[in-house]
Parts: sequence; structure tokens; C-alpha cells
Amino acid sequence: MNDTKNSKPQKKTTYKVALLGIPHDANSSYVRGAAAAPPLIKEALYCETSNLFSESGLDLGRADIFFCAADVKLKNHPGDADYPEIEKTILDLTDRDCLPLCLGGDHAVTFPIVRAIGKKHAKIDVLQFDAHPDLYDCFQDNPFSHACPFARILESGKVNRLVQVGIRTLNEHQRKQAEKFGVEMIEMRHLEDKPVFTFDKPLYISFDLDALDPAFAPGVSHPEPGGLSVRRVLEIMRRISAPFVTGADIVEYNPQRDPTGITAVVAAKLIKEFVPLMLLEG
Ligand code: MN
Ligand code: MN
Repeated sequence: MNDTKNSKPQKKTTYKVALLGIPHDANSSYVRGAAAAPPLIKEALYCETSNLFSESGLDLGRADIFFCAADVKLKNHPGDADYPEIEKTILDLTDRDCLPLCLGGDHAVTFPIVRAIGKKHAKIDVLQFDAHPDLYDCFQDNPFSHACPFARILESGKVNRLVQVGIRTLNEHQRKQAEKFGVEMIEMRHLEDKPVFTFDKPLYISFDLDALDPAFAPGVSHPEPGGLSVRRVLEIMRRISAPFVTGADIVEYNPQRDPTGITAVVAAKLIKEFVPLMLLEG
């Protein structure tokens, strides 16, 4: 008997997670620095202060489930000049049955990533962790600013639902944008103790490190107090239900604002917990 119709989602055994650095910060509005993040997060991941096991026991040292791809080579120009290269690299990975787990760079890179992934699916759902909605129509005369990517993504028509978690900087313009696009925004002040997120389309997860409280992740360009703890994020992640996680990113790590390096360690921890979620293991 092979009744797949009602069975629980199984690990996609042919899939691997590819860690992909996207060193691009030319669309940052306030300070740059996030382009230097990928090698430092990888260094924290492979540092001997910890090991490569997720809390559920999955070993990221297994080459059959996880590997580091070479960082995308970019000129780091402002605007969208580098986006074709980002999209091509994502499509090369998805064509090889790899699920991209991308390291920014600032949050602007999520637009070309999602545009590439959207080519593989009729519709996707997106879950965004962030202190900021990033829904500006245009910011500082730049429609590709890291304050705008989710407006661009929603204009594509590929997104079934955008759910935002951790928002605590909402202004009138972005409230109107959220209404216009039908964004399901869960402001930090309204976040339940044990929220459950259930999606029925392939899910993309975008994690801006400033969703976390600066006490846990100080190394970001726009620290916003009153945010999530690392533990709470992991608990939320455990309660995410989706048929398939098609990709993810961890963005906005700014090493220039992280003198102890702890924010890179937090990003590495998130990688270790994103991989089992993406492979539907644990
Ligand atoms: Mn953001
Ligand atoms: Mn943010």
C-alpha cells in the first residue's frame, strides 16, 4: 500500500539545503556593512565552540543534507543591477533539487531570491520575521531599498499570503501598504505566547535579525528594542506547519555593529534550526 494522499509530509530525500551567501548591502538606507556577513556567519557555524547538530539531533555535517555553496559574486551596485546574477544562482540551485538557505546582505536581497523561487511555483506563502514591515513603495528615492522588498515581492502577484511577525515600527504609510496588499501583520505587541502558523502553499521564510531583541542580536543596522528572544523564535519555528519549505534567508547581520561576534553565533544557531524545518525533519 502506498497511500500518500493523507500521510504526513515526508522528508524530501532527494533535497539538500544549500547555504548561499549573498554579499550585497548597496541598498541599505542608513549604514552599510551587511555585505561582509556571510563568511563570518559561516565561521561561527563551523567554529569549535559548538557542534553542527540541531536541537532535534540532525547533523549538518552530513554532506547528503547540507552544504555551503560559494557566495554569489556581485559588484554590490545600488538598485537592481546585481539581481539577475542572484536569480540565476538561485535557479541553478533549485534546478539541482537544492533548497537555498541564503545569508544576506541586507533585506533587499529577498526580492530577487523570492522572484527566482516564484518561477518554480504557481503561488507561495511567505513568513517574515522583522522589526520593520519593509513595505515602503519607495525609500530615499530607491524602490529597491532594503525598506521596500516586500512591496516589490507582493506586486509580483506570486504571493498567496505574507505573514509578518515581530513588527514594532509601523507608520501610516506602511500601514496603508499592508492594507493595500492584504498583509497579515502580527505586531510584536500583539504576538501570542504560543502562536501557530499554518500554511497551505510552499513556504518561504525570511528572517531579518532585527526581529530579535538587540539584547540577543545587537549586530544589525537598525536595532529596535522590545523584540523576540532566540528561544521564542525557536519555539515559533517548531510550530510552523507547511507542505514544503522552498527556501529561506537570514539577513541584515552587520558585523561592524557586533563587537563580540554574538550576533553571528545567533545567525549560525538559526541555520542549525532552519535546516531540519526545511527538510521536514524534527
Ligand atoms: Mn527587514
Ligand atoms: Mn528590520
